[in-house]
Amino acid sequence: MSRFNQDSEASRTLLRDNEFLLPVYSRYPVVMDRGEGAHMFDTSGNRYLDLMGGLGVNALGHAHPRMLAAMADQAEHMVHLSPQFTSVASVNLAERLCQLSGLASVFYSTGGSEAVEGALKLARAYGHKNFGAHKTRIVSLNGSYHGRTYGSLSVTGQAKYRDDFDPGLPGVDFVDREDFAQLEAAVTGDTCCILLEPILGEGGVYELSPTYMAHARALADRHSALLIFDEIQCGLGRTGEWFAYLASGVLPDALILGKPLGGGLPLSALVVHEDLVHTLGVAKHGSTLGGSPIACRLGLEYLSVVEDEGLLAKVADTGSYLREKLVEIANNSEIVVEARGRGLIQGIELTIPARPIVEAALAQGLMLNVVQGNVIRFLPPFLLTREQVDTTVNILAKLLQDAAKQSAAPAPATLSA
Ligand SMILES: *Cc1c(COP(=O)(O)O)cnc(C)c1O
Repeated sequence: MSRFNQDSEASRTLLRDNEFLLPVYSRYPVVMDRGEGAHMFDTSGNRYLDLMGGLGVNALGHAHPRMLAAMADQAEHMVHLSPQFTSVASVNLAERLCQLSGLASVFYSTGGSEAVEGALKLARAYGHKNFGAHKTRIVSLNGSYHGRTYGSLSVTGQAKYRDDFDPGLPGVDFVDREDFAQLEAAVTGDTCCILLEPILGEGGVYELSPTYMAHARALADRHSALLIFDEIQCGLGRTGEWFAYLASGVLPDALILGKPLGGGLPLSALVVHEDLVHTLGVAKHGSTLGGSPIACRLGLEYLSVVEDEGLLAKVADTGSYLREKLVEIANNSEIVVEARGRGLIQGIELTIPARPIVEAALAQGLMLNVVQGNVIRFLPPFLLTREQVDTTVNILAKLLQDAAKQSAAPAPATLSA
């Protein structure tokens, strides 16, 4: 565990973090200093392979030369502009997002949760304007994750995140994913939207089936409800396609994007169908910092780099290789329940808590990520190589082997005092 022996400056930073920052994150005992491609370096100079990707934000890894150049160039022109004015960067990015998604118009905000708020307001306004005050109910999935602000939290299907903060937004119906009957019972004439993550990320990496998504589309149409996809985590290339829903052939009425969209700067987007362009009218919604020229410029550069470097094909290829290796691990380990996901959003579910394994991996130079306590989630940068997959899988397989031995070993006899 020598890598945790940070120099005294780093130890002081960790102590001061404890002192001055609210303890809402269970932080790892390392102070990061810089990143380069798929690697990060801590302040003591140790190198880590980054399979966490800043929670899916750093899709191009760290310090990509084109992103740095775009950032410097845009910073010299303008960083921020009030949304009462337009910029070439924000229009160019919106046009690209519409072309790629098949939708028609964009609203920018800063973070994922804020874009979910916009989507909920869109759905409520759609209900009010077209059907009256009764059409307000929102159908969402148990186990879903949509954010931490009040509205987005209220539609997050995990009571453990909500219950300290009740009451939340009224009118939310949660159903189990892939349960057609439950969905059918929940969607009524009072439903203004069905909100789905095509791949539930924070919930433990569960893919929705194309049939389930088609069923949701049909129910939304039958009851004049909007179908909204939250692709903040799974979208923008992570599945090897621009959006996860493209594999299902089901088109949403609105799409929520975030995480990698601003190339590391805060940027999220609500992209809507042409029928919904006037649903949120003038002065009904806004975001001072949303869609800043610099974030949009980086977003545009991000999309161009993915295209120019052929990264969608690379994500598909590296993703299927990673998937193969994780399935192999799952088949050979009694403490791995299964491997899930596709492209570069994948996870393995363990029968034991994952945090100790992830901390041990960190000490060996591997940044992994835990969700739901027992799922190791992989959200690596798109430039991950097959060799780096091998490195990852070798370290992980060994750690899982050791953990399996320990959990199989008879409990040590208690020492009498
Ligand atoms: C991360 C995430 C959010 C919340 O985004 P923030 O930027 O943390 O506010 C919402 N939905 C999904 C699917 C996410 O993965």
